[in-house]
Amino acid sequence: MPPISDQPSQAEAQALSSKHSLHNDSFNDLVAATRNTILNEQIFPSFDDLEAAARHNRRPFAYIGDITSYESFLRLVITLKDPKTHQPVVVAFYDDGRGTSISRNNRDLTEGNTVMIFGARPKTFLDGRQGIRIENEDLNNVLILPFSYDKLVAANERYLDLGKQSNACSSCKTRVADTKVLSGCGRCKVTRYCNKECQTADWDKHKLECRAMGEIRTLFRIELPARA
Ligand SMILES: [Zn+2]
Ligand SMILES: [Zn+2]
Repeated sequence: MPPISDQPSQAEAQALSSKHSLHNDSFNDLVAATRNTILNEQIFPSFDDLEAAARHNRRPFAYIGDITSYESFLRLVITLKDPKTHQPVVVAFYDDGRGTSISRNNRDLTEGNTVMIFGARPKTFLDGRQGIRIENEDLNNVLILPFSYDKLVAANERYLDLGKQSNACSSCKTRVADTKVLSGCGRCKVTRYCNKECQTADWDKHKLECRAMGEIRTLFRIELPARA
């Protein structure tokens, strides 16, 4: 269970920042542009809208989809399910390492998780399949997230919800006049508790979403509404 506190521990802050430091300016632009949710179709277009997004969208955008399968016979090829159309989208790695850097370093590369590709451009491959071709310069724009798309959406919504209800204990639901008497979960910074006992009682329910919300928070730098 993470510590109960308002501040991330130093190790945690370091881990979070180093984890995402591989992302370049386009990632930071994306974060600045989003502010809200992965349901924003301007920022997370479906595959069918990707061409238009790549051509017209002045704002940064990213493609996201659930991993349905992957293989690394000649090169790493990940098949995603488009969240909107449920059509297969093939992500083929044409970098010098043929995707080995992704498959080797990512224990999260597995069915049911998601892949997010910043600034993805759509492509029709020679065999007629639709997808995204990854070159050397695209490698840093590929992010594998240890959650399904549905789980990301749910955690994102709950995250935004909880941000609006920061004057209640996430476990026993007691409302307080002074929010300073509640302490935040040390990892996700979203759930808030009266004390250690309330956090412990909520932990079984909270532990999965805690990780998802922590990731979302870091990924999108969502600012919670200022507490009264
Ligand atoms: Zn409580
Ligand atoms: Zn938490």
